[in-house]
Amino acid sequence: MKPAPFQYHAPASVEEVLALLAEHGDEAKVLAGGQSLVPAMNFRLAQPSVLVDLGRIPELAYVREVDGGLAIGAMTRQRTVERSDLVAARAPLVAETLPHVAHPQIRNRGTFGGSIAHADPAAELPAVLLALAGSCRLRGPRGERVVAAADFFTGLFETALEPDELLLEVMLPPLPAGSGWAFCELARRHGDYALVGVAATLTLSEGRVESARIAYLSVGEGPVLAPRAAAALAGRSPDEETIRAAAAAAAHHDVDPTGDIHASADYRRHLVEVLTRRALHRAARRAGPIEENDA
Ligand SMILES: Cc1cc2nc3c(=O)[nH]c(=O)nc-3n(C[C@H](O)[C@H](O)[C@H](O)COP(=O)(O)OP(=O)(O)OC[C@H]3O[C@@H](n4cnc5c(N)ncnc54)[C@H](O)[C@@H]3O)c2cc1C
Repeated sequence: MKPAPFQYHAPASVEEVLALLAEHGDEAKVLAGGQSLVPAMNFRLAQPSVLVDLGRIPELAYVREVDGGLAIGAMTRQRTVERSDLVAARAPLVAETLPHVAHPQIRNRGTFGGSIAHADPAAELPAVLLALAGSCRLRGPRGERVVAAADFFTGLFETALEPDELLLEVMLPPLPAGSGWAFCELARRHGDYALVGVAATLTLSEGRVESARIAYLSVGEGPVLAPRAAAALAGRSPDEETIRAAAAAAAHHDVDPTGDIHASADYRRHLVEVLTRRALHRAARRAGPIEENDA
């Protein structure tokens, strides 16, 4: 398959990108790593008449420490983030998750921001961004704005990005002291989109859960946060009984998965429960005194 004809632009600055988006509106799409957009164009699921390539804007690719957390430029390749010592130190949940995203060849081209902007409900990074309470810095003709992950993902492949806006960077706040994290998923083959995945963070204070954020992929129209599971953990010791109760709350109250050719709704619900238990046990171990041995 070949894409429908399109005009190609390769601007050298963010300002030029924004001018092109302002000029062409809905007709234009930005091209990041092309690992989702180009197949969609080849299948004619997407038919932008103008393509604005971000590949010649090096200032959009970086990983920086900011106030103890991280800022990741939208055009940073997924593989670069995966191999970053700074990410391993400051956002280990991201480092743990990235090997589950597609295959190394795809991560060499695919960008961190592209995955967030694409908002595939089966993608790992949006769920991780939600679990980490991260946010997105956007720029458009009306200036810059920062949108929390919880407000950024608005539906199936839908985000708060306006057609004339660009995702500039993703911001990840530091995890408080006493925090643990874990990512688990089940895919038929390593590198396939997962049937279900879960990203969890949990903060302990004097052996009890002070706060928890648990987010899922492949169970809704976007990444899904689990407030009922978090409430089942709050104020309790993260022992077997509490973790089982939280996982059951997630499976039966927080998610409402649908079935498809890959898995039935019931199987996905079952996976939510099993994977949540695994993720919470691992996160609790990392938050506790054995953290150094387990990281
Ligand atoms: C075989 C295969 C398997 C895959 N498996 C997985 C998987 O298991 N998990 C997973 O998460 N992903 C998977 N992917 C997708 C991959 O991770 C993509 O790289 C990612 O979804 C999109 O990133 P990209 O940089 O390639 O973006 P592109 O494909 O270039 O763009 C995707 C969309 O985002 C928009 N966009 C990109 N950057 C910006 C920006 N800065 N501002 C505004 N809009 C922007 C584009 O206009 C486009 O609509 C797979 C892809 C393939 C081909």
